[in-house]
Amino acid sequence: MQIARSASSSSSSSSSSSSFPARNATTFARYQPLRQSFTRYKKNELLREIFFSAEERRGRGNSARTQKRFSSSASASASSSKTEQQKQKAVLLLTKQEQSNETDDRKEFPIDARTEFEPTIGIETHVQLLTKTKAFCACAYVYGERQNTLVCPICLGHPGTYPKLAEDCVLKAVQIGLALSCDINERSKFDRKQYFYPDLPKGYQISQFDEPLCEHGSLKVQIPVEEGGGECVIGITRAHLEEDAGKLNHVGGSGNVSTATHSLADYNRAGVALLEIVTEPDFKNGKEVAAYGQELRRIVRYLKASDGNLNEGSMRCDVNVSVKPVGRKRFGTKVEVKNMNSFNAMARAIDFEIERQEKLYKAGRGEEIVQETRTWDDQNQCTVSMRKKEGLADYRYFPEPDLNPLVCTKKFVERVRKEMPELPNEIRERFKKLGLPNGDIQVLIEDENLVKFYDEILQSSSSSSKSSSSEEDEEGKDNNNNKKKKVNIARQVANWLTNDLLAFVKTEKLDSAFDLKLKPKEIYEFCLLIETNEISGKIGKDILPELLKNGGSARALVDEKNLSQISSKEEILKICKTVLSENKSQLEDYRKGKTKLKAFFVGKCLALSGGRLNPSITDEILMSLLNAESNSDDDSDTIIK
Ligand SMILES: [Zn+2]
Repeated sequence: MQIARSASSSSSSSSSSSSFPARNATTFARYQPLRQSFTRYKKNELLREIFFSAEERRGRGNSARTQKRFSSSASASASSSKTEQQKQKAVLLLTKQEQSNETDDRKEFPIDARTEFEPTIGIETHVQLLTKTKAFCACAYVYGERQNTLVCPICLGHPGTYPKLAEDCVLKAVQIGLALSCDINERSKFDRKQYFYPDLPKGYQISQFDEPLCEHGSLKVQIPVEEGGGECVIGITRAHLEEDAGKLNHVGGSGNVSTATHSLADYNRAGVALLEIVTEPDFKNGKEVAAYGQELRRIVRYLKASDGNLNEGSMRCDVNVSVKPVGRKRFGTKVEVKNMNSFNAMARAIDFEIERQEKLYKAGRGEEIVQETRTWDDQNQCTVSMRKKEGLADYRYFPEPDLNPLVCTKKFVERVRKEMPELPNEIRERFKKLGLPNGDIQVLIEDENLVKFYDEILQSSSSSSKSSSSEEDEEGKDNNNNKKKKVNIARQVANWLTNDLLAFVKTEKLDSAFDLKLKPKEIYEFCLLIETNEISGKIGKDILPELLKNGGSARALVDEKNLSQISSKEEILKICKTVLSENKSQLEDYRKGKTKLKAFFVGKCLALSGGRLNPSITDEILMSLLNAESNSDDDSDTIIK
């Protein structure tokens, strides 16, 4: 399907109909009166604003409520003249209120170079749901499939077709909603969001407007260790179901919309189920936004509700950023930033945008901040204006007449809740209880398979530690000791898995740790040998490459190579004495006060034993020997017991 680009067709408000003769002309003629009646109320930014900027709602207080009331009456009967009058009244009220707010703020908040600013950041994320079919027809969707092969009369919007909601979409949406601690509304409904764009075959999008599926959620987000750590809680305003649009491929020129000679429409993606997740403006900086995006992606991946691939567009984040002087009630002009293809880029784009707006305000050029969509230029590390918003589009929402309201019974929601897998935050808590350091938890949690592999290694303990635990019982060791041992082995395993083993998986380009020749049980045995001091960590590092290459028992390899750690006091004493007698001048220096020489003796002992000495016993014996003929009794304090 080829669409001529003789006229600008980048916006729904384009009045030129020359490139879309028949359909566009009639469509435009029919909507002309409606369009006029709505442009009068653009000042209100009407319905869209009410839902898509929680920040403004908070800031405006009463006026937001006026707006909300007004909006519901507007959608109920747009033609009623009584409502028209009410609308006009509301517009006047709002305008006056805004004007007075503005003058108050200016008096109270003169901005100069020292003024401190605070940002207001909110995110809208579109998550493509991983369902068998599109949202309202039986077409499947596969990314990258040949253009216009995954379409049918329903998703192409042919006259006389009816949408039918796929249950799968609701299930996935409810799962994500529950993972975000949202209330799942028993009743929600679908609405038509009207706008004309060549990749939207029906001329409207089925979405949810005033009765969304999920509302009032929150998400606890961990800031990565390398970003300083910590956590923040982000409010989730709502999450609603909708359908995706198709895709335009711009041809000719430099391949972007402004220089292309024509565009090719691919409708494969049209009608694919999306969940749009809208946050409260709770973020303080780009770091938190990136961490939120990453956590959201982990959740949808753990749920298998989406593949969360940013570069394939199955997860798309639009960020709204504004800044205002600290303490001022009125919010600054909101700028939307799009097209960030990594979370890292997202963090940098937001921090750039905050700085840009602050600088403009401080330079007295605040008016240059306009409501617009900006895009992130990764090469030049800055945001660039994409398009200005000349008054917001109004989408003339009305209830979708071809779909019944969606009813999610409590029973259904509870069933979904019961079948939810363990989510990242729950796993974090579990690993914290095991005593794992935050850095290791962060690495493990990034990959659901790695978590499974780790759990499997620890589970091997129940079979292989039977013998050792019975020994402990005989020795009468208490539970505490047992627990401590478990904690240590858990840490030991996490440490080896997240470092050496994962590095091996990456360099060998294995799909997952499950493809390692060294099986979970054998890894447990290896870690246990180190934890119980049968081999030192250094010997462990030495033999690991061979184990990874061939798999097999670490104990067998240790026995075969005679690498087990020397823990016998007599044997260690013998080695230490030999070293001391071979290095008499250093011993003299040591006893004269050159205590730094201890490291020299430790090194000599290790070399003599092939690195097999038990470190703590060796330390104890070596110290007692070194200080044995020393004059001062105080030195005995340094003996490690
Ligand atoms: Zn279809």
